[in-house]
Amino acid sequence: MIEVDFSKIKAVLFDMDGVLFDSMPNHAKAWEAAFASVGIEFSPYEAYLQEGRTGASTIQGVYRRLFGRDAGESEIKKLYDIKTSLFESYGEPVAMPGAAEALAVVKQKGLKICIVTGSGQTSLLDTLDKYFPGYFASGNVVSAFDVKRGKPDPEPYLMALQKMDVPAKEAVVIENAPLGVQAAVAAGIFTIAVNTGILKDEDLLQAGADMLLPDMFRLSEMVRAWS
Ligand code: CA
Repeated sequence: MIEVDFSKIKAVLFDMDGVLFDSMPNHAKAWEAAFASVGIEFSPYEAYLQEGRTGASTIQGVYRRLFGRDAGESEIKKLYDIKTSLFESYGEPVAMPGAAEALAVVKQKGLKICIVTGSGQTSLLDTLDKYFPGYFASGNVVSAFDVKRGKPDPEPYLMALQKMDVPAKEAVVIENAPLGVQAAVAAGIFTIAVNTGILKDEDLLQAGADMLLPDMFRLSEMVRAWS
């Protein structure tokens, strides 16, 4: 477990999908349908467990497990294109209930805010700004474009600490996925898992989460009490 003194916290690092956006149900549905289109069974629960991996890595994992071989470039591209177009066809994600309130409380407290996401969506900043106006500029987002190794590697979170200019012990991470929790814990940051999806609490606790909350509203209450 990572020790933390909440009165000394200077920055809150937020994951995006499943934390700020309620986008995981659509991601899971798109993965399930994309794999089904090539005759492979892939459950929404598996999609939640794998959240945070790149699309290519998710597909590789399935091919290795089922067929004992790597997926070819064209197989990966075909499947990932199907997944992406299905996801887009489901429409824009909605804001996670309680996320706007949590960002407002964090800002009121004078704490720094950074988004740390594996997403490589080019319109990311526009989307963030549309849903949560005034919180995100290019300096406080770490995305797939900024790192060599994605979650569960600690690199994205280490880069966020550097960008925010705070040591690990003065930051907390808000994550909803086991691989994201692993990445944050490996970066030495106190990690609050918010179970906004269909995973069992144990999935997040076994990944190393230091604390578990049921939703983003509880996060607001908690941050409000920091002094
Ligand atoms: Ca997430």
